[in-house]
Amino acid sequence: MEKLKADCLFCKIIKKEIHSSVVHEDDKTLAFKDINPQAPVHIIIVPKIHVDKISDLTEETAEFIGDMTLTANKIAKEFKIDKNGYRLVVNCEEYGGQTIYHIHVHLLGGRRMTWPPG
Ligand code: AMP
Ligand code: ZN
Repeated sequence: MEKLKADCLFCKIIKKEIHSSVVHEDDKTLAFKDINPQAPVHIIIVPKIHVDKISDLTEETAEFIGDMTLTANKIAKEFKIDKNGYRLVVNCEEYGGQTIYHIHVHLLGGRRMTWPPG
């Protein structure tokens, strides 16, 4: 499996070639503050192996969703947004609003979310 991709922004962030505000790191995931926050807490969580998008997950890589979710839940506690609640978002492809093609979960919290999403 290809681990990291040379021309991928989030792979560069994982390799620390590009600066980000890291809030959590473990052997499987990295989490950093979104550069253009849409809520008082807006964190991006990525697996440390490059996969373009959620629709590319396979039996071999499906566990990345679990890894990202566990990291998101930990960060939600650390940022004290776990009691009021929060939203996890995965955008996929053009209509899903994906702009960076390295699979990631958005952790959004600190305000009440609306539904339906835009
Ligand atoms: P998506 O639209 O779901 O692909 O989300 C990509 C997210 O990455 C957006 O919310 C961007 O604001 C965020 N983003 C883009 N570049 C950076 C960066 N250098 N550091 C942190 N977040 C970034
Ligand atoms: Zn990547």
